[in-house]
Amino acid sequence: MKRGIVPGTFDPITSGHLDIIERAAGLLDEIVVGVALSAEKGGGPLFSARERIAFIEAATKHLSNVSVKGFDTLLVNFADEVGALVIIKGLRAMTDFEREFQMAALNWRLDSKVETMFIMAIPEYMFLSSSAVKEIARHGGSVKGLVPDVVSEALPHKLSEAR
Ligand code: ADP
Repeated sequence: MKRGIVPGTFDPITSGHLDIIERAAGLLDEIVVGVALSAEKGGGPLFSARERIAFIEAATKHLSNVSVKGFDTLLVNFADEVGALVIIKGLRAMTDFEREFQMAALNWRLDSKVETMFIMAIPEYMFLSSSAVKEIARHGGSVKGLVPDVVSEALPHKLSEAR
């Protein structure tokens, strides 16, 4: 049984994240999407961990080998906890590479049994990020197609609450 984890903050999940999860689910037997609580990242996430997990569950319900779990530990410890030997990350433009390369090296140093694999973002989603989505929505732009429908429906409400 080959199990992998797809970790991230997913604040919120985008179509780019979903594409990586779908492709990873086609390559391995089981995928656990790991939602980092990331309480401190950039002033704290917009959506609570519970909301971020619920969005991913709704967006991946067509994938029978995908489950979603929150974590607040070292990534290699989370991998160990769920019995995964592979970390799968999406890779966008060059800016991701530097950071991902460093994280992969550190994770290898912490636990060399856990492999990191990268899946290239498709050109359409190469420039898509959770922060760009929030910025577009904040200024009243449409994010339809950039995020799963559950997210595009929830975003305006959440942003008006947060104001
Ligand atoms: P972000 O980098 O947007 O804050 P996360 O921390 O949730 O998002 O990222 C989790 C993983 O998803 C990272 O490996 C990141 O490179 C990847 N990822 C994010 N957006 C995309 C995208 N549009 N296409 C492919 N991979 C992506």
